[in-house]
Amino acid sequence: MSSASVAMAGHDLLGFTCQQMCAFMVERGLPAYRGRQLFQALHRRLVETPEAALELPRALRTGLAAESDLRPLSLMEVFEAADGTRRYLFTVRDGHAIETVWIPDGGRITLCLSSQAGCPMRCAFCATATLGLQRNLTAGEIVAQVLYVLRDAVHRWQQPRPAGVNLVLMGMGEPLLNYDHVLHALRVLADPEGLHIVPRRVTLSTVGIVPRIIALGREPDRPRLAVSLTAATDDLRARLMPVNLTYPLEALREACLMFPRHPGERITFEYVLLGGVNDADEQARALLRWLAPLRAREAAKVNLIPHNPVPGLPFQPPPPERVLRFQALLRAKGLPTYLRRPRGRDIFAACGMLAASSQPSA
Ligand code: SAH
Repeated sequence: MSSASVAMAGHDLLGFTCQQMCAFMVERGLPAYRGRQLFQALHRRLVETPEAALELPRALRTGLAAESDLRPLSLMEVFEAADGTRRYLFTVRDGHAIETVWIPDGGRITLCLSSQAGCPMRCAFCATATLGLQRNLTAGEIVAQVLYVLRDAVHRWQQPRPAGVNLVLMGMGEPLLNYDHVLHALRVLADPEGLHIVPRRVTLSTVGIVPRIIALGREPDRPRLAVSLTAATDDLRARLMPVNLTYPLEALREACLMFPRHPGERITFEYVLLGGVNDADEQARALLRWLAPLRAREAAKVNLIPHNPVPGLPFQPPPPERVLRFQALLRAKGLPTYLRRPRGRDIFAACGMLAASSQPSA
């Protein structure tokens, strides 16, 4: 089902590709090029409302403003961290809160997008899990996060347009449980008439919804894949990530082995390091064993994420020397292993800290 047919109140115009926008104009008896004009105004010039797209006839501008949903997000608050990371807290039309994170990285930026309001996956160490699932975001609501923060950077923070944009679906929610809308949003964002953020610039992170990983592998324009692993034995993983009861490690690895990769491409395995829980030498060895068939094909790399503490949850990051030793054990076996620097921890924007809290810090 396309996001266009899902939108109920008005049209989910931000969820339209340029082609869909042209078809929309034709349906209204207008020339198709009006669709391209509107699409480019929204996605290239980043106009906030159709009234500002002066190349369109006035009647069309007013009509669009009245009937469609071009501003699906309302900003509640934005927090800026010392390292330049910004955390945007938005509400969607029905009042749910979502978050988007802007992460500067040299001339480029990485935007961390939410795919759902809340999340149903119940990972024991994650702040978003405490919310439960509120609902899937529409394609337009996913696209709007990108348009909003880019526009905000230029207008409010007076920054130049970033030289390049990477997207990570690592905000709130499980993207593979909102499969159609997420993939449609990525098609809109990749549209050469608009932002043209190509799929290799996009990383989708999942807890490991096996049938959807397989489906994703069959998509012609698929993003890169990251899998949140966090434990390499079934008993521990099931305690930390209940999804493991449905899709245990063996099935997950099968899906990863089947996942087609471009030359040189690796699947990222995220491993949240929880002090005293999954950070022992033995667990590093279990991880190496589990990854062995993937390593044999040079198909895996590991991102270690020291846990970002969440008030009320009984987890702590390991001491720094433990983190380094865990990394060293993996690297010693030739496994590319990176440490994810926590970004924006002081504004509660780092991984797993997104819980619609309006507190900048706990
Ligand atoms: N649901 C998807 C997308 C969210 S990505 C997924 O889980 O992959 C968010 C990443 O942050 C995941 O890798 C998750 O394991 C990690 N994470 C969750 N809580 C965390 C915390 N408190 N500290 C550090 N990382 C955390």
